[in-house]
Amino acid sequence: MIPFLDLKAINAQYRDELVEAATRVIDSGWYVQGTEVKAFEQEFAEYCGTKLCIGVANGLDALTLTLRAWKEMGKLKEGDEVIVPANTYIASILAITENRLIPVLVEPDMATYNICPINAEAAVTEKTRVILPVHLYGQLADMPAIMDIASRHNLLVLEDSAQAHGASINGIKAGNWGHASGFSFYPGKNLGALGDAGAITTSDDELAQTIRALGNYGSHKKYENLYQGVNSRLDEMQAAMLRVKLRHLDTETQRRREVAIAYAKGITNPTIKLPISPDSTLESLANHAFHLFVIQTKERDKLQKQLTEAGIQTLIHYPIPPHKQNAYKAWNSSEYPITESIHQKILSLPISPVMCNEQVKIIVNFFQ
Ligand SMILES: *Cc1c(COP(=O)(O)O)cnc(C)c1O
Repeated sequence: MIPFLDLKAINAQYRDELVEAATRVIDSGWYVQGTEVKAFEQEFAEYCGTKLCIGVANGLDALTLTLRAWKEMGKLKEGDEVIVPANTYIASILAITENRLIPVLVEPDMATYNICPINAEAAVTEKTRVILPVHLYGQLADMPAIMDIASRHNLLVLEDSAQAHGASINGIKAGNWGHASGFSFYPGKNLGALGDAGAITTSDDELAQTIRALGNYGSHKKYENLYQGVNSRLDEMQAAMLRVKLRHLDTETQRRREVAIAYAKGITNPTIKLPISPDSTLESLANHAFHLFVIQTKERDKLQKQLTEAGIQTLIHYPIPPHKQNAYKAWNSSEYPITESIHQKILSLPISPVMCNEQVKIIVNFFQ
């Protein structure tokens, strides 16, 4: 069986380093808001190219707290509109509705699965205040175009970078394009902790301070509370794990790109639509961190069954789009034909830094 993602094997590569880091935290006697978090925040900000990084409990909180902070700063108010892709993981939308802001769903670009800048600009109204692009599957959205739209319409940009650690366009990484960016370090993400974790990157001091306070009961100063905050903090143990994993992230991303290129070159079956061209190179794929390798085919369910029978585990990201979820009943009858057709045809093949060439070959041969 080729597993979709072998997390045990991924973390086993760094077992000694992880054990050493965990031991350091255990022996320190200090488990929340200490030196590991501070060091990881500095290291991850430096990695992304931003001035600041704020650790939080998970990726959903990273997005939710950033929007909340903009409300506390007077940049947003209830009922303002946020433009977001219709085909995203539900968390991008939950962060908006949790803040009583209005998600305006926009169809993606068929080729990249990411928000289409033309559709995004067409959705701007006098109530629009934010664009929330999602770097889906690890590929950066068209950020030069999104930032141009944002500056012409005076909008804030919050990147959902949960799937795109280390992807870049023109040398500028995910997390350093928008006014702020939310990251998830859920174990299965490209930079994964050994539990839940998340962070915001930004170069805006006031925003960073506000998020920090909101995630710490609304407190800037011990026992003084400016806001009705929450408890959402990255803990010392996860920060220590992430510092180890961050050192290996670029090597892992390169391996993901190598697997993607091998798929693109090897899978020549005309019924399969690939996410990248077979002439892609490591350099031309800088914009893609390959969190997922997503193919399209008309008979998706049949193909998935055959792959399972051949011992190849695949998943669907995602089977039901947000507007068809029970959680958002009011939108169930809305139509997003591109999003819906994508959801019916997509299938994610195994991709990970620990896949060996033999496994890649088995999968490529399956399609011959
Ligand atoms: C994983 C993910 C999130 C949420 O992150 P959690 O850490 O699981 O809360 C948000 N957006 C996208 C696109 C994701 O893939």
